[in-house]
Amino acid sequence: MIKGIFIDGEYKESEHIFELLHPHTKEEFEKVAKGNEQDMIKAIDSASAAFQEMKQMPSVKRAEILKNAAEILQKRRDEFAKIITLEAGKPITASRVEVERSVQTLLFAAEEAKQSYGEYISLDAAKGGEGRDAFTIYQPLGVIGAITPFNFPVNLTVHKVGPAIATGNTIVVKPASQTPLSACLLAEVFIEAGLPKGAFNVVSGEGGQLGDVLLADDRIKKISFTGSPKVGKMIKEKAGLKRVTLELGSNSALYIDASVKDEMEDVVKQSVSAAFAYNGQVCIHTQRIYVHKEIANEFIEQFITQTKSLPYGDPFDEDTVLTGLISEKEQKRVLDWINQSVSAGAELKYGGEKIETGIEPTILVNVPKNEKVVCEEVFGPVVVIQIVESADQALAEMNDSDYGLNAGMFTNHLKQAMKMAHELEVGQVLINDVPTLRFDHMPYGGVKSSGYGHEGVKYAMKEMTNMKLISIHYQ
Ligand code: NAP
Repeated sequence: MIKGIFIDGEYKESEHIFELLHPHTKEEFEKVAKGNEQDMIKAIDSASAAFQEMKQMPSVKRAEILKNAAEILQKRRDEFAKIITLEAGKPITASRVEVERSVQTLLFAAEEAKQSYGEYISLDAAKGGEGRDAFTIYQPLGVIGAITPFNFPVNLTVHKVGPAIATGNTIVVKPASQTPLSACLLAEVFIEAGLPKGAFNVVSGEGGQLGDVLLADDRIKKISFTGSPKVGKMIKEKAGLKRVTLELGSNSALYIDASVKDEMEDVVKQSVSAAFAYNGQVCIHTQRIYVHKEIANEFIEQFITQTKSLPYGDPFDEDTVLTGLISEKEQKRVLDWINQSVSAGAELKYGGEKIETGIEPTILVNVPKNEKVVCEEVFGPVVVIQIVESADQALAEMNDSDYGLNAGMFTNHLKQAMKMAHELEVGQVLINDVPTLRFDHMPYGGVKSSGYGHEGVKYAMKEMTNMKLISIHYQ
């Protein structure tokens, strides 16, 4: 049976199929069933029916299913890593890390499923409230509609399915068209783990067409979206009274202070990796680096040297860091942005050319602020290094952005670090780390055009529940 549409615990046929191309070779490696509006409605029917069972399921049972799913994923880890590398062109070493993280995310969800964060409220604090106690409980919303991107096809799906199941919801996933198989395999894992059929459905196909069905159906109580700001804004406009979480893009910035001069080699190593891992196709990839003028020359020199040693090649080779980009269209767009910035006066210090289906790791210095490589999300192997006079200038330039997801800094000045941490307009600040850092249990969400709401298991769970107050009049 061709995979792609998974409803009510089994794969469904479709008259339509689409071909999956391996991003590195652009060769077809699999055919996938393509869903239409009717398939999406059937998936919502199935998830609605399963909700009747899920909402009654005790938390100990939900936790057990999530733990089983973690164990099965761990056993099937090589198969999952291979699928990620085939679909997304991610280097196999990074795909393995993604699977390991997904196992952890499921275990966090299993642990959190058993926690209860309701509170006691003494109503006699209000005049007339004497003789009453109250407490809050959190109840599942119903069916969650999840729309996911291509770049972390397993872990970002787990970030939606894990909290949904932990709170007793059911879910319909619309995976990115480049990476539908990862989501389908994950649905298989959950059914094997004991999840009721219909509680986790997958419909692959065109984002606009299937997204509109999710948005129009009143049985979908929440849309959890991870993807580009353009699509995210459209979803928010159409969502009406549905709850929405939007995890969107960024042009994440990093400040390097002169006080880390003696730690330069390590700082450069972390910065290079954060700029180029998986071709920069990471929402918190380090795109803008602001380096203090006192150490700028040394930093840039070492940055170029370390970048030159990054291997480009087949993502199945153990040493590969850079591979083909997700599509030819994206490769062309990124090359155009690099060329535009060079025409506008940016200094091209390294890279800038196409290699097969990828792009050389590209270092641009002193780039005019209004160039797309500075102010838009590059989502490619490009880093911009700007030389600044002071931490205050870095702070102002880091905040001069439409986005606000993660920001990082390397500094040994505590006061300066805390001032920046308070004033940076982002969701997460990483002191003495690159912005390209996320642990799966921490709250994670953007401000400005980077998003709305939070993920990170416990925080996503809160956004997938309704708080209800229960009051008892005992006198
Ligand atoms: P994308 O083009 O926005 O696609 C994301 C998902 O939205 C896909 O499943 C896509 O389906 C679907 N979609 C497209 N048009 C739609 C519409 N009109 N209505 C509803 N759904 C629609 O993003 P991408 O290229 O896959 O991923 C890259 C983006 O994701 C970057 O901006 C990156 O920063 C962001 N991202 C953010 C985070 C975070 O946590 N903040 C994490 C990872 C990635 P099709 O594939 O069928 O078009």
